[in-house]
Amino acid sequence: MNILELKYLDYLGVMPVIDSCCKCGSTSIKTLSSDVGGFVCSKCYSNEKIVSDKTIKLIRMYYYVDISKITKLEVSKEAKNEINSFLNEYYDRYTGLYLKSKNFINNLNKLTV
Ligand SMILES: [Zn+2]
Repeated sequence: MNILELKYLDYLGVMPVIDSCCKCGSTSIKTLSSDVGGFVCSKCYSNEKIVSDKTIKLIRMYYYVDISKITKLEVSKEAKNEINSFLNEYYDRYTGLYLKSKNFINNLNKLTV
């Protein structure tokens, strides 16, 4: 489910940055945060929630994996929870914004007609 949710974000055009730090592009990643939109390095880190190294590796794997080739996937409960809460927060924040801005544009269209 989380794998699909992550891939679907790409489809929606609001993919989180999970190749490097989303602020400076550094590849020494400290954590993953929906507030900043993906990975954060130790330099850009302020007070985001810390996730485990496993979660950081897994979320990239989730994105790049070919879902039809997965037969068995072992994910710890901790990593699963961290990825799940990241995705929930991310969806809430970015896809919600997307819908709100769409409503806003629709209302503007009504005004100008
Ligand atoms: Zn950075």
